Amino acid sequence: MDTKPTILVVDDTKENINILLSLLKDYDVVVALNGEKALKMVEKYDVDLILLDIVMPQMSGYEVCEELKGKIQTKKIPILFITANTDDASIEKAFKLGGVDYVTKPFRPIELLARVKTHLELSNTLKKLEYAATRDGMTGIYNRAKFFELGQTLLRSQKNLFAVMIDIDNFKNINDSYGHPFGDKVIKKVVNTIRNNIHEDTILARLGGEEFALLIQSDVQESVMKEIDTMRHLVSQEEEIFANDVIVKFTISNGVATKNENDTLDSLMKRADEALYDAKKSGRNKVCYKNFRV
Ligand code: GH3
Ligand code: MG
Ligand code: MG
Repeated sequence: MDTKPTILVVDDTKENINILLSLLKDYDVVVALNGEKALKMVEKYDVDLILLDIVMPQMSGYEVCEELKGKIQTKKIPILFITANTDDASIEKAFKLGGVDYVTKPFRPIELLARVKTHLELSNTLKKLEYAATRDGMTGIYNRAKFFELGQTLLRSQKNLFAVMIDIDNFKNINDSYGHPFGDKVIKKVVNTIRNNIHEDTILARLGGEEFALLIQSDVQESVMKEIDTMRHLVSQEEEIFANDVIVKFTISNGVATKNENDTLDSLMKRADEALYDAKKSGRNKVCYKNFRV
């Protein structure tokens, strides 16, 4: 880790907080004196781990934990309960609600620090694994598996959805003429151009090789058409220089389909793929559409 991890300490007793602050001096520590404040703090700071007192007036640590585990933005932050209650039922409840561990009051400094360190490392490793499992290694955009996972959710929640299949034209020629590493540079450049010209909530993924896909949430067909054609044009304006003096140009073909009421993600992507095939057949560097209103 390059920067210090941030730990949120939630406790209603000043005395406990002071002890924890001195123990955790090697970390960035932020403090909340009650549950409501803790929920605000996690929105404000990028918290890596939470030390959470169970018995607090108004909102208990259990309730805070339950809220945090219920939200997609905070459910992965490891929570270590701090508790004076060491009976089975209290401990069982702490784990059941999603706590990763607990420390008992009064703390044993060595134990507390060891548990904090272990859970920070564990959570950091999980984050890296999740990133690697869901991203394309070369470009950093989503991989095929993540595209289909996110796409299934989006298909259920979004009435108006557009799928786009994108394929670099005559890419084999580029590889054959200038070599595979040069081809990789072209892939990265194409991805950058696409990434810089889509909306924040558009899903972009590399499905494989020189093939990419988008899922666009929009109510306005015309603006989607314009957006894709602009993207196609911008890619065609790009270039990559080979051996200091050869200017290499490249283009993409695009197939777009609109979601129907009965579509599955597979059937929607299949139509986008058919539209892509039309774009290839009609000369490449084109955008073709399936089931669009005219
Ligand atoms: P079309 O216009 O019909 O799409 O023709 P094309 O040459 O782009 O299509 P084809 O499917 O024949 O060739 C795609 C090539 O992409 C073949 C494969 O070796 C190459 N390729 C796949 N993945 C990578 C990669 O990660 N890097 C590089 N440099 N080349 C790749
Ligand atoms: Mg191609
Ligand atoms: Mg291809």
